[in-house]
Amino acid sequence: MIRENITAIRRELPPEVKLVAVSKFHPVEAIREACDAGQRVFGENRPQEFEKKVAELADLGLEWHFLGHLQTNKLKLVLPYASLVESVDSLHLLDAIQDWGKANGKVVSVLLELHIGAEQTKQGFKEEEILDILFRAEKYTNIRFCGLMGMATHTDCEDDIRADFARIADFKAYLQDLFPELSDFRELSIGMSGDWRIALGYGATIVRIGTAIFGERQY
Ligand SMILES: *Cc1c(COP(=O)(O)O)cnc(C)c1O
Repeated sequence: MIRENITAIRRELPPEVKLVAVSKFHPVEAIREACDAGQRVFGENRPQEFEKKVAELADLGLEWHFLGHLQTNKLKLVLPYASLVESVDSLHLLDAIQDWGKANGKVVSVLLELHIGAEQTKQGFKEEEILDILFRAEKYTNIRFCGLMGMATHTDCEDDIRADFARIADFKAYLQDLFPELSDFRELSIGMSGDWRIALGYGATIVRIGTAIFGERQY
């Protein structure tokens, strides 16, 4: 089924939109199967699981995104291997990534996570916090600001999802106007299994799809 799911999603995705297959809680065999179907980019949200899978699948030469909450004491499990950290959700984490990048001579590509959903529990910055960071962007010599990530409200109400996506899409456009010098700031990572088709209408450049590829997760 994994192959069929990927093929069906790909058929609907514009070629310029990057599909991240979110493989969290699924075994490495499932990832190999997705890879056989042509999928190259995978996302994980727990540092230990991320590092373990990266190591076990090193032979495949995959691209890995990290998209979960990242504690600063776990950076070394993630930053050496992640091509993009999609879920930077606090100043404390951003500062720690900068320090790690400086100490290791690396520039880390990140997305800033904007809190858009109605749920209090969801992580992410407020708009004004992101503005504060980007006004001081040159201070982050070892960080590449690549854009925004957001998770819409978990709901069947399409209007609410559209409102969330419109908000993040508008904010991204506003930031691109305000900070034209940030030439890498172009990604908009919105859309998951339930709402990725809607996200395409709001300029998603990255969609993060787990369940619709791999099936339900067994927690
Ligand atoms: C798990 C997860 C996804 C994928 O969710 P599905 O609904 O299974 O597609 C996408 N983004 C983030 C940040 C996640 O944690």
